[in-house]
Amino acid sequence: MNFYMPTKVFAETNSVKKNKHEFAKLGICPLIVTGRHSSKVNGSLKDVEDSLTELNMKYYIFDEIEENPSVETCEKAAAYALEKGCDMVIGVGGGSPLDASKAIALLIKNPEKDGTAFYEAEELPWVPVAAVPTTAGTGSEVTPYAILTVHKWKTKKSISHRIFPDIALVDAKYLAYTDQRILISTAVDALAHLVEGRINVKSDRYNQMLSEYGMELWGKAKEALRRGQPAEEEYELLMEASTIAGMTISHTGTSLPHGMSYYLTYEQGISHGRAAAVFLTAYMRESKNEKLLGQITSKLGFRDLQEMSAFLKEILGEVRVAKADIERYVSELSADQKRLASTPYPVTAETLRRMYETSVSIYEQA
Ligand code: NAP
Ligand code: ZN
Repeated sequence: MNFYMPTKVFAETNSVKKNKHEFAKLGICPLIVTGRHSSKVNGSLKDVEDSLTELNMKYYIFDEIEENPSVETCEKAAAYALEKGCDMVIGVGGGSPLDASKAIALLIKNPEKDGTAFYEAEELPWVPVAAVPTTAGTGSEVTPYAILTVHKWKTKKSISHRIFPDIALVDAKYLAYTDQRILISTAVDALAHLVEGRINVKSDRYNQMLSEYGMELWGKAKEALRRGQPAEEEYELLMEASTIAGMTISHTGTSLPHGMSYYLTYEQGISHGRAAAVFLTAYMRESKNEKLLGQITSKLGFRDLQEMSAFLKEILGEVRVAKADIERYVSELSADQKRLASTPYPVTAETLRRMYETSVSIYEQA
């Protein structure tokens, strides 16, 4: 068994303001890395700016991070940071700005490098990173992963460097600004992390403690996803479940549904969480481990796998994929042993085909 969680986590209401002195321990001139819009609306950017101003820290803002951030955007942000003399990064937003922050921190510390360094084996240092999550999905505030869109490879891929944020300032109040669509697609990402971490070759008693507790939290909040208009406590449950789920995959990594999701996100434009969660119950069913499936569904508050599957279908809606695309995905995935390595049961082309058939609506292209 192993356990490693180097991120200092502060999870409470008004976490940024209350723990602002933590920023000053990381550097003197932060680059705030965020998306174009949401952090200005939900108050997270203002909380960070006010805190830095109170600390008399000079800062700069890069607010051009897109969903599924690209290597090129990270290069652009790092060039801006270097021009301004920034020596630390504060990521504010969903998984996209948080992941981008880690990649940008690497380039700031290695100004002679460009984005090709993200995918090289050479060990490199990075400047400190703080993370302020505003979605309850990726858990990126406590994971070492940074998943970027690599256009030249036509896919998304985690960078080779393991960069844990130094601090995570977690506050569920920002979730009140998410609409139903974003809340669902991020919450099911956290669910996928919990389940893929539990059904995983690296599952052990330490990380099971995390995944099982995370499932209980998620289960208590799940009705809010169907109903809409979550109560404050439900936002808190979802945020806590997401951070715990991040701690789980920091140890196990994700598994087959995430591996299958990247095609749907890159080629079909389906959001990250929805693209992974659509395969979740098929992934569980293929394990054929009735005892474990009973444990998972009961922690999540479902009677059985069938009820869980119906719930997910209802909140995720229909995902349509062309037959020819599926054939290509099956052949590429079944040849990619690395991507299948975390699944604790044999995966053949037939397994994958079955998973597609039971998870998405397949149509013949005209
Ligand atoms: P996201 O791509 O960061 O953001 C999705 C959308 O939500 C954006 O339009 C964003 O607006 C908006 N948004 C963010 N917070 C909001 C709030 N509080 N209220 C209203 N709108 C809000 O979504 P995400 O699902 O959190 O992150 C997905 C990315 O994380 C993917 O690239 C995925 O591969 C990666 N990921 C990373 C890990 C990891 O361990 N590092 C794990 C899983 C997934 P703005 O653009 O205006 O900000
Ligand atoms: Zn994910």
